[in-house]
Amino acid sequence: MQDLIDEIAATLSTRTDRGAVADYIPELAKVDPDQFGIAIAMADGSLHLAGDAETPFSIQSVSKVFALALALGRVGDQLWRRVGREPSGQSFNSMLLLEREEGIPRNPFINAGALVTTDTYLAGSTPREALGHLLRFVRAAADDEAIHINQAVARSELETAHRNFALAHYLASFGNLQNGPDKVLGTYCHQCAIDMSCRQLALAGRFLIEGKGFPRLLTRERQRRINALMMTCGHYDGSGDFAFRVGLPGKSGVGGGILAIAPGRASIAVWSPGLNRYGNSSLGTEAMEILARRTGWSVFG
Ligand code: GLN
Repeated sequence: MQDLIDEIAATLSTRTDRGAVADYIPELAKVDPDQFGIAIAMADGSLHLAGDAETPFSIQSVSKVFALALALGRVGDQLWRRVGREPSGQSFNSMLLLEREEGIPRNPFINAGALVTTDTYLAGSTPREALGHLLRFVRAAADDEAIHINQAVARSELETAHRNFALAHYLASFGNLQNGPDKVLGTYCHQCAIDMSCRQLALAGRFLIEGKGFPRLLTRERQRRINALMMTCGHYDGSGDFAFRVGLPGKSGVGGGILAIAPGRASIAVWSPGLNRYGNSSLGTEAMEILARRTGWSVFG
């Protein structure tokens, strides 16, 4: 495994077509696109790192996986009254289907749906307490107390989050927010601004598989269901393409990170800040594609 990921990191390091970094969040526009990291936490307990695997990056929408786990822990299947489980075929921040579908977002991984999961784990607490719960969950999953929120990134997103404010107010107009839009947005932007390295993210992803010494934070059924949503919705309108090329449940973020799960085998994190046209890491997707092909880990056989 180590030889394979060293080879993937070496192959991709020569690439010049890396895609563009996200610039709608000013703080993310400053990130050097010329970076690539990969980490694999295997079910046998071993850990493999290559490239910039120890460099922290903004996990952004990968945080929606942890938020979903927390929201399900809070209200269980009642969550599905407020958010669907279907791919949207639209970009991550689209408003298009919300009107037609009366304020019920298609799934928990598009922004509208993630605002509902944030609203759910936030209910009854202050943003500080809710983010404390979220960080405790992520730190327990990764077994790493050093994981923290990058305040500069959170502020930078909050100052420019016009589209997400519009989405939150639109959800509220349908009665699908329990907290005020400002409170939900403040919490959401901090949630997205968690910094993690590939090493930390691969370790955190272990809560989605059974493995030797892995943290047991979810039932098997919930692991299976979150994996199903990652496969069908984790890459927005690029989810079909990711399933076709990689064949693993995955969740991307505009910081250039991707968490993918090879059920029963491994939790994989890759990071490269340049994005493809769907807003998913360009080299990260390619790395996952090579890895899945060489290991035969695709869930489709
Ligand atoms: N915080 C980002 C946003 O809401 C997350 C988007 C993403 O990573 N795709 O715009």
